[in-house]
Amino acid sequence: MTETSFKEQHGQGRTCVITRRACFSSSHRYWLPEFSADNNAACFGACAIAPGHGHNYELIVSMAGGLDSDGMVLNLSNVKNSIRNEVTDQLDYRFLNDAWPEFDINKSAGCLPTTEALARIIWTRLMPHLPLVALRLYEHPRLWADYLGNAMDAYLTVRTHFAAAHRLAKEELSQKENEKLYGKCARPNGHGHNYLVDVTVRGSIDKRTGMVCDLSALQCLVDDLIVEPFDHTNLNKDIPYFAQCVPTAENIALHIADRLKKPIKAIGASLHKIRLQESPNNAAEVYAETPQVDAISATLETMPTN
Ligand SMILES: [Zn+2]
Ligand SMILES: [Zn+2]
Repeated sequence: MTETSFKEQHGQGRTCVITRRACFSSSHRYWLPEFSADNNAACFGACAIAPGHGHNYELIVSMAGGLDSDGMVLNLSNVKNSIRNEVTDQLDYRFLNDAWPEFDINKSAGCLPTTEALARIIWTRLMPHLPLVALRLYEHPRLWADYLGNAMDAYLTVRTHFAAAHRLAKEELSQKENEKLYGKCARPNGHGHNYLVDVTVRGSIDKRTGMVCDLSALQCLVDDLIVEPFDHTNLNKDIPYFAQCVPTAENIALHIADRLKKPIKAIGASLHKIRLQESPNNAAEVYAETPQVDAISATLETMPTN
């Protein structure tokens, strides 16, 4: 066997993205000394309550590189050790505000340990050791941040759900034609789904609050503009937009993006993506930014396990 074919057999030199998951449990508190107690409570809600509260964080580290002669981008033991030494050993069972000097809010350069700020600081600490391409940090299965190494730019996603009925059928077609086009989804009396909605916003991490936008304001927008009007409805009959437009997963995702884009701009972030999951078997994703910025690496779409 020639050396070239031996290399090819092991993929040597070819590029691959690998991910590694790590978990840690930490507490934190959102409290700024320059704010009054009332201001802290108004800005950070229950997150301002002393002495703080905790989360089971899940970190997905995404790395890229060429394969070595052993068929690996990196030796996974080294990856594991770097993550343990630089991140989890330092944060697990710790109070984040005290764990790292970056979160010392008594210093003017300190910022609150929000999910997005924590993802960015983890990046700065892991980057000297690992060829990072992206980090995802789950605070819990319904809130996570993505950081791709672009200065203060970060993505924040909130996951919510609603239950609704719909029927896929075009008015101008016969029942037979609709069933040919949309299958069982065209049955006359409709059917329902427990929809999962992921709303991803992009913004600049505030140097002091650590936030890309006011999280409770974002959650209120999603609740008021999507969940409240859509939950326990028949989309075709109760949402005027779907009287004319067939409520496929794609169209629902687009309509959600249209409803949220301006209000999210008004709270200081940009709507990046809507992902609408209709069932475990199908989902639609709509990228809302123009011009569209780079889509988050698909390798990050690892589902949380808890
Ligand atoms: Zn928290
Ligand atoms: Zn359906």
